[in-house]
Amino acid sequence: MGKVKQPLPEGKRLTGCRWTILRNRFIRANPMCARCGKVAEQVHHVIPRAQRPDLTYVWDNLMSICTDCHMKEHNLTEKPRF
Ligand SMILES: [Zn+2]
Ligand SMILES: [Zn+2]
Repeated sequence: MGKVKQPLPEGKRLTGCRWTILRNRFIRANPMCARCGKVAEQVHHVIPRAQRPDLTYVWDNLMSICTDCHMKEHNLTEKPRF
């Protein structure tokens, strides 16, 4: 029997290699904040993971964002998380 891939538990902070690699690659490809054009430090999920956990690693669902805009983004909708 092989290893069963566990889906990410909802609402948990994203950690681990897979996310780190994807995130770094995404920021390198999209270095500017999509909201204000400053240097992006974080990657935001366009459709929140709480709604679509299956889109967590989908490139098209990611958005480069700076810390300020990211906080604003989440204050409007949900608690801050990646
Ligand atoms: Zn910004
Ligand atoms: Zn976010």
